[in-house]
Amino acid sequence: MFNQFNREDISDRARAAFVGMAIGDALGATVEFMTASEIASKYGTFRDIIGGGWLRLKPGQVTDDTEMALCIGRAIVKSQTWSLEAVADNFAAWLKSRPVDCGDTCRKGIRAYLLHGQLESPPNEWDAGNGAAMRLLPAALFSLPDEELLKKYVLEQAHITHNNPVSDAACICLGQLIHLALCGGEKSRLRRQADGLVARFPTFVFEPYRGLATGYVVDTMQTVFHWFFRGRSFEECLVGTVNQGGDADTTGAICGMLAGAYYGMEAIPKRWIKKMDRTVIAEIEDMVERLIAASPVGRRF
Ligand code: MN
Ligand code: MN
Repeated sequence: MFNQFNREDISDRARAAFVGMAIGDALGATVEFMTASEIASKYGTFRDIIGGGWLRLKPGQVTDDTEMALCIGRAIVKSQTWSLEAVADNFAAWLKSRPVDCGDTCRKGIRAYLLHGQLESPPNEWDAGNGAAMRLLPAALFSLPDEELLKKYVLEQAHITHNNPVSDAACICLGQLIHLALCGGEKSRLRRQADGLVARFPTFVFEPYRGLATGYVVDTMQTVFHWFFRGRSFEECLVGTVNQGGDADTTGAICGMLAGAYYGMEAIPKRWIKKMDRTVIAEIEDMVERLIAASPVGRRF
């Protein structure tokens, strides 16, 4: 059963989710846009944070996935409430700061906010990239354990750039999985939740796994589900995911947040934490405490 609402346990899992996301981003970025066989011939199994990749990163440097999540987290912490304008303002300031990377759909949505104050992109059947899912973690932490708030925050932040039913379904399911994992849900329970998504949107079916790991949110979630549900440790889940290549920093970030929430800090390899950008980890640790303290569950403690 759920280990519900044990403060220490929830804080530990929430920290592991956020740190795990940043680690998945930094690890996967090295092999982003490579194929699984290119990774295998270059590295055997790729399992260390070494930087490089097409973005020529420093070891432990994160990309847009983590940076956009931090934008959402900072907006919540500063406002002490849910303010979509504050989120969009932070996205806008981030885009102007010439980030190391930014997806096309994200850029388009943020530009529309800058030019017209648009907080909700018009529905678009092509905007089914993974850019809304990759950054939703702060919205999941701040809404814990309220499912209605989760849906509201997750979708509102998504629609600044991605307004698409397939992206929406992935975002809600990912948020629900994170809530379940933070509250100590077993993998069988999480699996039922993922199967529920597949029942409503059969396109997400991940068994048998097709081996596609592109930036299309369906491929991304299939990859994360496949490796998360078969992995037996944080490391196994994440290594399997990024070795699939493709949009590996983003599949890594999403698998890292989910596996982090599920396995907790103890399970995250120290060699990975040591390689991470210290400033980013320090901000994450402080932010997570504040997000949980301001969430519905935090106000019960
Ligand atoms: Mn990225
Ligand atoms: Mn990416």
